[in-house]
Amino acid sequence: MPELPEVESVRRGLEGARLRAPVAEVWRSRARLRIGAAWDRRHEHVSALLGATPQTIARRGKLLVWTFAAADAGEPLGLLVHLGMTGRFEFAGDARARPPHTHLELRFADRRKLRFVDPRRFGALRVAPLATLWATPPLSELGDEPFDPAFDGERLRARLGESRRPVRDALLDQRAVAGIGNIYAVEALWEAGVPPLAPCVRLGPGAWARLAAALVTVLARGLAAGGTTIRDYRGVDGNAGGGEEGLRAYGREGSPCPRCGATLRRFESGGRGGAACPREQRLGRGKIP
Ligand SMILES: [Zn+2]
Repeated sequence: MPELPEVESVRRGLEGARLRAPVAEVWRSRARLRIGAAWDRRHEHVSALLGATPQTIARRGKLLVWTFAAADAGEPLGLLVHLGMTGRFEFAGDARARPPHTHLELRFADRRKLRFVDPRRFGALRVAPLATLWATPPLSELGDEPFDPAFDGERLRARLGESRRPVRDALLDQRAVAGIGNIYAVEALWEAGVPPLAPCVRLGPGAWARLAAALVTVLARGLAAGGTTIRDYRGVDGNAGGGEEGLRAYGREGSPCPRCGATLRRFESGGRGGAACPREQRLGRGKIP
């Protein structure tokens, strides 16, 4: 599943395309996308983009927020995009037929066509006045942004310090910290030497500080590599990311720990696995300093 670095890479790819011509045509497949409280097909309203002009694109957690100037010079619209598991954007020339699993196609007045393709259909789309999007879930419920300069161990501890959930599972809660999925959670816990299954309440201030710093480190590493190649992630240019070789723990169970040489061991929690170092991430008794 695309996490913060992959979504940010998509954002940069779309920004780089410099789309500034009004939307001349909106096509939407009949297929349903993600279903959930904040994601209802009746609230998609993608046809409202007709005549609107694309502007800048923001990212919040794993979500893209694309600003469009309204056709009638009214309040700006926002297109909220969740890439889900396999969602991606691609440009197409005029002649090419829509590939399977295309769910949205925007044709712009400069004749460029942008498609949202999503084979697994866990992605989601929503168009609303920009201010409304920011003020309502899921955007309004998101926790700290890891690259925010104010993000640190104290912030993380304030959000999660009382929780009895395993710290790996808690990191996946977008209301605590936004943009983290299983891959970067596993990587950050290894980087920080924190046991993934430790209940949050057992982490001391030092462990929270190391974890916050490690999150920023592994996310920045993933971003520098253009996102990981896990699953079906693709950038806007169609190229897979190059970050998989950069992973130190995730998917490496049975291999030596890059830091101490102990054999990395698989763990499971909440139906999602990962790998950890049995020596440096050992869950003993008492506080994790
Ligand atoms: Zn180790």
